[in-house]
Parts: sequence; C-alpha cells; structure tokens
Amino acid sequence: MSSQDYVRLLDATIQHLERLRSDGVKFLPIAPSTLAALGAPTPKSNDPKSSSTASPKVAPTPATNSPQTRATGTPGRTASPRFPEEMAESFDTAKASLTPSILPISSTPAVLIPTTDVSRPLPPPLEHPGKIAAMHSLRERALACTRCAPLAKARKSVVVGVGDVAARLLFVGEAPGEEEDAQGEPFVGAAGQKLTQIIQAMGLTRETVYIANVLKCRPDTPSQAYGNRKPRPEEMSTCLPYLQEQIEIIQPQVIVALGATAMEGLFGKASVFITKVRGDWQSFRGIPVMPTYHPSYILRNQSLSVKRQVWEDMLAVMERLSLPISDKQRGFFLNPAG
Ligand code: SF4
Repeated sequence: MSSQDYVRLLDATIQHLERLRSDGVKFLPIAPSTLAALGAPTPKSNDPKSSSTASPKVAPTPATNSPQTRATGTPGRTASPRFPEEMAESFDTAKASLTPSILPISSTPAVLIPTTDVSRPLPPPLEHPGKIAAMHSLRERALACTRCAPLAKARKSVVVGVGDVAARLLFVGEAPGEEEDAQGEPFVGAAGQKLTQIIQAMGLTRETVYIANVLKCRPDTPSQAYGNRKPRPEEMSTCLPYLQEQIEIIQPQVIVALGATAMEGLFGKASVFITKVRGDWQSFRGIPVMPTYHPSYILRNQSLSVKRQVWEDMLAVMERLSLPISDKQRGFFLNPAG
C-alpha cells in the first residue's frame, strides 16, 4: 500500500468514526485480536523519510480489550511518528483479524453498490392525482417490505418520506435514526430540526418540499444498546429502487443530497468525500443535484464557515428554482452576527 493510499484509508476511517460519533454511536464492537494488532509497538526507523512525514491524526486507540470498546469518546489525537507504510501494515493486520460479526460495523465494503444508471431518462411526469396514487402504492409496498430481513425485524416503522408529492425540491438523506424510526418520519431528531431551520430560511416549509432517505428502515444495531449506524452499501442498493420510484413520481426540479452517504447511495458510488463535492452541481437522471453537508455535521461543527458553505449551497438551489432571495438572506453567516 502506498503512502497516499494509506492517508486516504486513514482519512476515510476517521470520517467514518466521526460520523458514527455524530450519529450517537458510543461503542464499537472490536475483537481482542484486533486491539492487540492496533496496539502493537511499531519498530523505530532512522529512515529520513520519517522526519518529513507529517504525523497524521488517528482515531482514538481503544482503552480496554473489552468486546465493547469505547471508540469515539476522545477526539482524534496526533499519532506518534510512524512510517505510513508501517501503519498501513498494522492496519491490514488488524483488518485481516476482524471476524465476520465485526465486519458489518467496522468495514465499508465499497464494491458492493452496483453502478446506478444516472443518465436513464425519467418517465413522463404524472398528473397530481396520479402522483398521490403512485406514492400511496409505493408506501404500501414499502411498509410490507422485508427485503432486508434484519432491518425489517428490528424496525418500528418504515420511514418512507414526507412532504408534497409534487414538490420542486427533494431533500435526500441516508437512513432513519432512532427517533425517525420511532416517529415514522424522516429528519425529526436534532439534525431534522436543523434541516427544518434551513428549509425555513429558504422561505419554504417541510410541507412544500419532499424529504426522503436512501434507506427506508433504520439500520439495525444488534451490538449496541443505543445510537445509530451508517447504512451498508448493500442495504442502500437493495432499498434504492424505492427512492428511484419516488424521484420518478415527484420529478423534482432540484435534489439536495445531505452528506456523503446520501451521495453514495443515490449515485451508487463506492466512496464520496463530501468536502470535495459539496457545492458542485451533479446530475441524477437529468435532475440537478446539489451535494451539501448533512445537518448533523453543522450541529457538531458550529463554525461560521461551515454554516456559510451550506447556506451558499442553498442559495445556489434557490437561484436554480428561481426563488426570491432577499439581501438579508444573501448575507446569512457572512459575519458573526449573521
Ligand atoms: S430498508 Fe428498504 S429494502 Fe430493506 S426492508 Fe426496509 S424498505 Fe425494504
């Protein structure tokens, strides 16, 4: 593994752990053998490359060898100097030691999502009564769906979506969390309230847009007492036809993809770095898609610049929809008083 690959892998791992933490995950199951591999001392080297290699940030090292090891309680810390190659080797050793029962949470089998044909044209649009009937039919099928047996067994609700079936704007998230599962509606927790604020700041309401997730059932968390987990690629690809159908019914003028996982699920991509793609228009079956940060990212990163980035994405969406934009709206989050 090259140094670059290693850094990419480490970045992805840190992002994954931070995402789990933001979703409320406090513990990750981890095998004792994995802990041993991760904690193994690394041989020192006098190779001059080591002094020029920036010390990367790494996820917290678990403190115990309990099967339920605290993995997200400490912010990322600076690793002691090591060669990336050595750390990659250590990571590979650890990865190889993971048992199948651990893999679902800690690995991202990126190749499992089939490629989505994002250029397939949409069918002719339905009239309003046809949209209502089609969405009702979809809802009935989704409520009875058991394609993902563990999720169907664990769920309280199938969270199909909410809003206007003729909306011009569709927000797409990744999956219901604990609160969404309990209430049967997407984006009703803290992140949901943040999304509602964003929608209202755009001069819209939840009733005039449509909100849906790639996955309609909450990802099960059999090894956790509470918290949520990121959907697996195969779960998203299994459920994606429902979202595809919703998009065909609604035929929104713009889609906002909330976070990297929503982008991965929607486009069938293995790995999306939201920091790289946010703000750049994409196209899904002819519909412009604006990728932006997930509201939970704003909640855990309260910096003005992140709020402004999301707001600039929304301003671009408003312009695309020819929505009126006041001077006050244009100036949101440009200064500490914004
Ligand atoms: S996540 Fe989607 S495909 Fe899987 S059981 Fe639920 S509705 Fe069915």
